[in-house]
Amino acid sequence: MSAAFYGITSLWLHQQVDESLLTTATQVAAALDDGEPLEAEDLRFPLGNEATAALLRQRQFFIRVIDLDTGEILGESAFHDLPVTARKGGVGFETLAAPSGGDSLIRVYTLPLESSPPFALQVGQSLDEVHQTQSQILRLLLVMLVATALLASASGWFLANRALKPVNAITRTAREIGEKDLSRRIAMNLPNDELGRLAQTFNGMLDRIEGAFQRQRQFTADAAHELRTPLSIMQTGIDVVLSQERSPAQYRAALESVQEEVQRLTTLTVNLLTLARADAHTLTLKRQHMDLSILVNTVLDQLAPLAEQQNVTIQRHIAPQLPLYADEDRLIQLALNVIENGIKYTPAGGCITVTVAQDAGQARFSVADTGPGIPPAHLPHIFDRFYRLDRSRNREQGGFGLGLAIAQHIVHLHGGEITVNSQVGVGTQFTVTLPFNRDLMLNGEHEGHPGA
Ligand code: ADP
Repeated sequence: MSAAFYGITSLWLHQQVDESLLTTATQVAAALDDGEPLEAEDLRFPLGNEATAALLRQRQFFIRVIDLDTGEILGESAFHDLPVTARKGGVGFETLAAPSGGDSLIRVYTLPLESSPPFALQVGQSLDEVHQTQSQILRLLLVMLVATALLASASGWFLANRALKPVNAITRTAREIGEKDLSRRIAMNLPNDELGRLAQTFNGMLDRIEGAFQRQRQFTADAAHELRTPLSIMQTGIDVVLSQERSPAQYRAALESVQEEVQRLTTLTVNLLTLARADAHTLTLKRQHMDLSILVNTVLDQLAPLAEQQNVTIQRHIAPQLPLYADEDRLIQLALNVIENGIKYTPAGGCITVTVAQDAGQARFSVADTGPGIPPAHLPHIFDRFYRLDRSRNREQGGFGLGLAIAQHIVHLHGGEITVNSQVGVGTQFTVTLPFNRDLMLNGEHEGHPGA
């Protein structure tokens, strides 16, 4: 911009000089024109006039009349030995070196006059003033250039520093966050720009990681706790039996108690294994063409003795057939968990109603009981691992709090949903909906892992 400004200004200054030379020459020529052809005599005197000369010198104008044929100077104000270069036809503007020496230049305009012999009027002006102005502008521009460069560097440095400060903060926080300190977060006093959103996303990710980490920790602690209980029961039982001689009947009773605990441990281990495989995404479905109605009826037949023992009646509202393309073993596990819960938690004299039906293009399977119900505060956690409403009572009923977690995982793997409705004192209903997966039915085996 400075260069352009300098170039344009210089051009403009030179144009100004040329314009004023042209105007002066035209005005003088007009003053000389008295209607008669000009003679040499007309031209000598007025230009030699001292007053005119002083005025012209003061304004740095020079003026003279030359004979274009001979180069003779007829009259001049103050051209001071400036050589005559203009010849016939060679009129217009020219720039000459001042005879005084140095690097002064003089701009001269030659205007031919209507005369015979051919005279011409020459008006000239020193370019010293223009050059002075030019160098002043140049100096000013240089100072401004340096000042601008300094200012731009300083403000660039300041702005970059300010913009990168949050990045530094994010980096520092990220470095400080370790396995033990997942609770650290980036200070959220950032504006809602790219960096603010990055920090938000980063914090959200940390929330999820921390949650997953805590759940994993809790899961391990709960699993260890569940494993310890049967082991310590067995340990105590064995210690007591071995402390003195026992009769064969007593040994038998002790072994039966150990067997019971081993059975519990086996069930727990199988459940833990299922969940571990679910977490590692290695729990895949083996889909096949099956019938949900037959499956649920079979499970109900299996559980009939338990219901009878508990004095719970079972009502079946099961569609005659409901073909599905699903993993039969997993669905048996699911039906067993949900129906067994219904029977287990319903007091004697109660009733459970099992429904299998087609509903809005989906298979629906529900189990409603007349049990104690689940208080609303517990409902959101009912599918959490190891979650039980009443731990001590549950142990007697053989539950670990893993059944519903596994059931939910199986349903999600099938692309379905499991929901719970409960009213304290009235009963609980679990409803499972499973899509028919017609594409899968037609295309055969293919498994994905819907996030569970
Ligand atoms: P559990 O093996 O202990 O039954 P679940 O995961 O199957 O574990 O169930 C979790 C908890 O939900 C149970 O401990 C019980 O307190 C509660 N629950 C499950 N089903 C019912 C139901 N039909 N009625 C009342 N409470 C239930």
